[in-house]
Amino acid sequence: MNALQPWSEDMPPFQLYGKLWHIGGKMSPSYLFDTGDGLLLLDTGFPKNGYFMFRNMHDLGYDPRDVRWILHSHGHFDHIGMTRALVEMTGAKTYIGAADRDYVNGTLDLTWARELGSRYDEPFEPDVLINDGDILHFGNLAIRCVAAPGHTPGTMAFFFDLEENGVVRRAGMHGGVGSNSMMMKFLRKYGLSTECRRQFPAGLEKLKKEPVEIFVGNHLPNYHAEEKLRFRRENPDGPNPFVDPGEWVRFLEERAQKFRADMAADPE
Ligand SMILES: [Zn+2]
Repeated sequence: MNALQPWSEDMPPFQLYGKLWHIGGKMSPSYLFDTGDGLLLLDTGFPKNGYFMFRNMHDLGYDPRDVRWILHSHGHFDHIGMTRALVEMTGAKTYIGAADRDYVNGTLDLTWARELGSRYDEPFEPDVLINDGDILHFGNLAIRCVAAPGHTPGTMAFFFDLEENGVVRRAGMHGGVGSNSMMMKFLRKYGLSTECRRQFPAGLEKLKKEPVEIFVGNHLPNYHAEEKLRFRRENPDGPNPFVDPGEWVRFLEERAQKFRADMAADPE
């Protein structure tokens, strides 16, 4: 699969809980939340993802022109690629962790586009720079931001309440967990500090204390989305597989273990 060919990324939209939908690609997620006062997108995927994102939005009965806000988990190509085009189309306001500002505005060539054999040609200047502890309001949705640096310096975790049939549940996302951008080869190539290798595991530990019933992965395999969708197809009247109060902590512990192994194999 070539992630930069949008037809290989294409998948139908799916609902997680309440007004939260996934409308993005197989390797480049993008979430839509209907605030009742305009649409919020969380990450925009690869630059060519408009190929199916717009169709997915129309299929759900939404108009892409109603996107008012775009929030980003971190400043990598597979999460920010469609933003510039969406801003030009809708005038949406953009948000990202303050430390990733120079990634997305083109000052630094660190968006991981080059590593994917591509180029980041769609820089944008974010309207709002997010800091640890900020609470952002989008219509009737409030999102609490917690700094989770490591994967990139500005990676954020997000926590927010979702409502469905009168039942409110807490959702959480860790914005970036891959070891790829913390490996010595990458850090040396771009002259980056190894501080990220200490910040990242400390962040995982801190985030374990957050109560999360719906884990929103920043990549589909992180929360076994394909398996959950299969379960839903086979059990249309069964429980919502995206509600799993144990999954958040399980995931953070798994990532901590994987990170330790990756770092042990790649000493400073
Ligand atoms: Zn990334």
